[in-house]
Amino acid sequence: MKSAMKIFLMIQALITSVSAFAPSMNKVQASFKPQPLHLKDENMTPEEREIAVEKATKAMTAFSNTYIKNTGTKYCQDMSIPAVVIKGLAEHKVTLGAPLCPCRYYEDKEKEAKDGYWNCPCVPMRERHECHCMLFLTEDNDFVGEETEITVEEVNKHAGGMSM
Ligand code: SF4
Repeated sequence: MKSAMKIFLMIQALITSVSAFAPSMNKVQASFKPQPLHLKDENMTPEEREIAVEKATKAMTAFSNTYIKNTGTKYCQDMSIPAVVIKGLAEHKVTLGAPLCPCRYYEDKEKEAKDGYWNCPCVPMRERHECHCMLFLTEDNDFVGEETEITVEEVNKHAGGMSM
């Protein structure tokens, strides 16, 4: 079970490293697109952005705690998993204006956020209780834990310095 968790974390790391190439890929794509990206936080100072991320982290933590109870799902045994996902959702809320799923690679994040399919809770979660981020786990999942509550402090402890 531990090795499966390691694989999941490696996938997360891979997605993050692939995302790191996104700016250069966007540069290449920009020559084919008439519309440049207009990110929501582009005019914020670092201090304003930090405050916005803190506020969004509180909002996404509250959302997760409510949604998990409404859907009868639970958090992972390893609470660093929901913490990292919630932080990723909060970062996207600030950057894109919507909580775009942080566990996927997108060629155009702004377009995806507008489309809404992968805004949390995404369509697969709403329709079939499928959360590939492992934020909301059903009872039959091998990694399901007992918790239905996570605090903002826990989220920041596990994912404080993370940036998408
Ligand atoms: S897979 Fe869906 S429900 Fe799970 S974190 Fe991503 S957007 Fe949210």
